[in-house]
Amino acid sequence: MSRAFNFCAGPATLPEAVLKQARDEMLDWRGTGMSVMEMSHRGDAFVTIAETAEKDLRELAGVSDDYAVLFMQGGASSQFATIPLNLLGDKSSADYVNTGIWSKKAIAEAKRYGNVNVVASSEDSGFTTIPEQSVWTTSAEAAYLHYTPNETIGGLEYDFIPDTGSVPLVADMSSTMLSRPVDVSKFGLIYAGAQKNIGPSGLVVVIIRKDLLGRARKETPTMMNYQVMAENGSMYNTPSTYSWYLAGLVFQWLKAQGGVKAMGQINARKAKKLYDFIDNNDFYANPIDPRFRSWMNVPFTLADGALNDEFLKGADARGLLNLQGHRSVGGMRASIYNAMPESGVDALIQYMAEFAKERG
Ligand SMILES: *Cc1c(COP(=O)(O)O)cnc(C)c1O
Repeated sequence: MSRAFNFCAGPATLPEAVLKQARDEMLDWRGTGMSVMEMSHRGDAFVTIAETAEKDLRELAGVSDDYAVLFMQGGASSQFATIPLNLLGDKSSADYVNTGIWSKKAIAEAKRYGNVNVVASSEDSGFTTIPEQSVWTTSAEAAYLHYTPNETIGGLEYDFIPDTGSVPLVADMSSTMLSRPVDVSKFGLIYAGAQKNIGPSGLVVVIIRKDLLGRARKETPTMMNYQVMAENGSMYNTPSTYSWYLAGLVFQWLKAQGGVKAMGQINARKAKKLYDFIDNNDFYANPIDPRFRSWMNVPFTLADGALNDEFLKGADARGLLNLQGHRSVGGMRASIYNAMPESGVDALIQYMAEFAKERG
């Protein structure tokens, strides 16, 4: 059995070196005589694992002591409710930008807890572009502004960080976290479901500016209260220990690759190669405004949609897996996160070229 190139949007491919290390440490983590899965989360061994992961993440992403780093559960989607419950405070509304399916889900959930002001939307364009900030109808009275820097399903990525003045900026970075350098100090809160660029699903990493702690509504479930999580080192209850450990291995792998800056250069090159190929081949197309094309998720269509199944079958046979687009968009989508090696992108391009030549 050899490893395929897995282009799944999430859960996504993990670095092979990380999986091998996890395998090697599976039965006996560094002489403890037990698997990480079997350890007390309060014991020295796991506390070391947890603290190292946090320290490495802070170093990789450039997170200062002004921020708490939380390892929470329930995936990114649980944050759609956790954020308004914690951050609305005594304000009556929050601002949201609607640029795709994930923004829409965040908006729908927030509406259960307060007034949502959708300050801009690119729905009319089929979510193929991002409205300039100059036309956003933001409010200085908003509790926060929420946006989705990378829309995983549409393949649409901001090339700017919104400037919201004193209104805290909240970002769903599930599919772009650690893919390129980002100035964390511009944000009030960053969250990311782990299964794209960080580790196993279920885990969600939250980076929150400490002055935003302690504003949760009274009825906020304890497990969703950022202050409680921060005060308890994300161990109010039993955390998702094995996922936390694997995330830590991914962080160490990232450091060994040269960190987020080096990763960003590789990711830019991978994405450019694939978009250049698509743009220069009549058989394939990508609908996104070139300025806002995602580095992580590359959707594309075939000139003849009747050939989709054949394309996917041929890809599978070559070990190029999970290229089917999201059910809501159709077509194809190649997710090329940090752990997708450049050779995977090369193999995909080669297959696409051959398929277009034979069937186009
Ligand atoms: C995958 C994803 C989510 C949902 O993550 P879950 O962990 O499944 O809840 C939310 N937002 C974005 C941008 C995503 O890519």
